[in-house]
Amino acid sequence: MRGKDIYTRARKTMVESQLIPRGIRDERVISAMLKVPRHLFVDEALMAQAYSDYPLPIGEGQTISQPFMVAFMTEALGLRGTERVLEIGTGSGYQTAVVAELSGRVYSIERIPSIADRARKTLDSLGYPNIVIKIGDGTLGWEEESPFDAILVTAGAPQVPHTYMEQLAEGGRLVIPVGGEFVQELMRITKKKGRIERESLGGCRFVKLVGRYGWQED
Ligand code: SAH
Repeated sequence: MRGKDIYTRARKTMVESQLIPRGIRDERVISAMLKVPRHLFVDEALMAQAYSDYPLPIGEGQTISQPFMVAFMTEALGLRGTERVLEIGTGSGYQTAVVAELSGRVYSIERIPSIADRARKTLDSLGYPNIVIKIGDGTLGWEEESPFDAILVTAGAPQVPHTYMEQLAEGGRLVIPVGGEFVQELMRITKKKGRIERESLGGCRFVKLVGRYGWQED
């Protein structure tokens, strides 16, 4: 079988065995998960495991999130196709691509330059004109490009940085893991008519959000 077919089938199995049984329902999210070639976002030595049910290392002590977590967080943002999205923690760029399939434009911030450069290369080779990546401290947000209809944070924060609340549009959704160093609660925060609504989406485990309004560097 050709390589391409192997990965296409692996994505279908991933969706059918990991995402649908755990409740992912949004058809657009499912299509994006079937489309984005996750194996191209990891090292060659890890490609055979790219569609397995766990996170994988991407260097510098960071990880590409588990497929289910990517689908779950993306679904929680409720994207319809035209949104301006801020993503904190580009990492491999995999979730950036998934979100770019479902929104208007993605502004993504990564603090580790070598990781950001690699994500940029991968995304350029796949051709995503609606993704902008910046190297810097994502806890500050991206004021010049705000407000955002959706903000997605893929690293764990000790508390919600106030910058995100300020840069979230009316009706906007913020999805962020909040809690301790090793386990967090995935929160969805919605800005509605000046009111803030908070819901817990369950427990999770992310690498640390390191920055001015996150964890301090070791
Ligand atoms: N969604 C990514 C997850 C990467 S892990 C993926 O699936 O590949 C989280 C990333 O957040 C790491 O690359 C880490 O370097 C980055 N990060 C941590 N703190 C950050 C900050 N303050 N600003 C930007 N990126 C940050």
